[in-house]
Amino acid sequence: MNHLIPKYYNEFKCIGSDCPETCCQGWKISIDKDTFNKYQKLDNVNLKNKSDKFVKKLPKEVKGFYAQINMNNGTCPFLGQDKLCSVQKEYGNSYLSTACAQYPRKLSVFKNKELKSLSLGCPESARLVLFDKNSMNLVEDNFYEIKKSIKLYNERNIDETKLLGEKLFNLSFSLLKNNNISLESSICIIKKLLEEQKNLEFFPEKLSVVYDYLIEQFKNEDFLKFDTSGLNIEFLKNFYKFASEQNCNAKNSSEQMSKNFIKSLNSTYKSLILKFKSSEDQYKNFESLKSQLSNYIRNEYPYLFRNYFLNELFSNVTMFTSRKPFSENRLEVSLLGALMPQLLMIEKFSSSKNKISQDDILKAFYLTHKNIGFLVQYTGNFEFKFRDGIAEALKKIDPNSTFNSLILLFA
Ligand code: SF4
Repeated sequence: MNHLIPKYYNEFKCIGSDCPETCCQGWKISIDKDTFNKYQKLDNVNLKNKSDKFVKKLPKEVKGFYAQINMNNGTCPFLGQDKLCSVQKEYGNSYLSTACAQYPRKLSVFKNKELKSLSLGCPESARLVLFDKNSMNLVEDNFYEIKKSIKLYNERNIDETKLLGEKLFNLSFSLLKNNNISLESSICIIKKLLEEQKNLEFFPEKLSVVYDYLIEQFKNEDFLKFDTSGLNIEFLKNFYKFASEQNCNAKNSSEQMSKNFIKSLNSTYKSLILKFKSSEDQYKNFESLKSQLSNYIRNEYPYLFRNYFLNELFSNVTMFTSRKPFSENRLEVSLLGALMPQLLMIEKFSSSKNKISQDDILKAFYLTHKNIGFLVQYTGNFEFKFRDGIAEALKKIDPNSTFNSLILLFA
């Protein structure tokens, strides 16, 4: 089996008790049947009592997830005071569920090829992905740095649909790496390519004509250059309402967004909304901060958003290769995963006298991505569904297109 990884992948090492946002906090942890059975038979009385109280079988097994560890006041009941896992300490790695042992690693399996990447919900992963110029260079079998075409399939006698998916992925990946075309334009072109995929399956020879046409249409980013501060502020108000209601209505701490995310969201809401008497003042302040922040990021962290989207494309390459009907919504999820950190960063930028540190950027990303499951639901069959409150907030911007709403907010 060959494998393909971004350059950063092999550098990952969990920083354990030094982690500012341990992965044992702020979500439900799903476990497989084998791990559930092991937890039932623990001979350490303290751990067994915790298992009886917090590890619960799911009503039915879904995709190998048989039970879940419920949180104790937002934290995994097995997390020790030393911020290490007490099950792992007592019984070793073999007692960890696949989810716990693998996190934050992500895997996409193609016929003879594995694509490995890291999730941005982990602070250490986010650090490796976001800042380095070369972090998203791809390497095959730990040896060959890919310079030209990325092969998702080893065989070349595969069907046209798979080849087309691979070509679209290659075009999209190169677009995001190309500094001569704006990030926003590239994302719009990728969206259009995905929309054209069905037609291109019948007319694969038209791909280069379609691609050139889209570049011509979108290369000038002026189509997005107008003041969207009002849209952003109103979206933030709706998002805040959604998050507050979701947490108030949660039946237990496993159904609540993480405390740190809510804390950051509250600060953002206070600083960008409550501090001002009128909507006009909120808009004016936001417009000025957003443009200053984007200049600052362009100078200080020039690879930040490109690396983010490259990692999203690579980690979710099935949006190009799967023929399932809703897989293209994954691009919208990536946009939301960039928009929320941007909003959280604007607050930090303002409260830190128009500067933002690497740690603050990381925090905005890992908090958002750790909580992404509270914002978007994966319903199986490759369908990503925005939670009702968010879907409604986005509909107020463009009732017909979630993508348009998100790109307007982000740009
Ligand atoms: S979030 Fe990442 S660095 Fe932190 S404890 Fe989990 S795997 Fe380790």
